[in-house]
Amino acid sequence: MGASFVDRSYKGKLTRDQIKKEFDAQVIEDRDYNGHQEGYSGDWQTLNGVRLDDDVIFANERDASEYVADHSDKWEHAVAVYFHEKVSTKTSAKASDQLKKAREGLRTTKFEIAEMIKNAKSVTIACKNCKSKITRKFLRDSNCPVCSSDLKSVTQNKRIARMNEKVDSIERKLRESMKKGKINTLIGGWCAE
Ligand SMILES: [Zn+2]
Repeated sequence: MGASFVDRSYKGKLTRDQIKKEFDAQVIEDRDYNGHQEGYSGDWQTLNGVRLDDDVIFANERDASEYVADHSDKWEHAVAVYFHEKVSTKTSAKASDQLKKAREGLRTTKFEIAEMIKNAKSVTIACKNCKSKITRKFLRDSNCPVCSSDLKSVTQNKRIARMNEKVDSIERKLRESMKKGKINTLIGGWCAE
């Protein structure tokens, strides 16, 4: 029998009582929807109540969800935590546009490099790893079809690495430019199935 992690977020900073109410209501809904299935219904019915960990208010929903996944177990309590809603700013809206462009650029460059390798003048290309001689027109991407190792040149890889760095730095800028908004609640747990 396995387990699947199920979490839900709720608007606002729910009190302990409200959290319990939401949890109990969801259990009833799960029961209506999934039936009992002898305790392996893969939903909140398989959890033993809910506990609130309110020591930390997480910076975003993803961090909250990761914490709950790490701090709850199958057949045990569901865990509730608080997290801040993320609110975009002028800077983050700009960064978000830049990120879209940078990701598109990266995708295009990868495609162009793969095409360059495929369409080079010499009919075959030698794989440095497995020594296979591969007919270029049969390449589906820039990897060796025999051993999957990379057929790109050092220069081509450097170009991609630079573009990856740019994407990373814009992602960082985007994260840092988001404002902390209202506090919401997340409840989650590992459900037996
Ligand atoms: Zn190879």
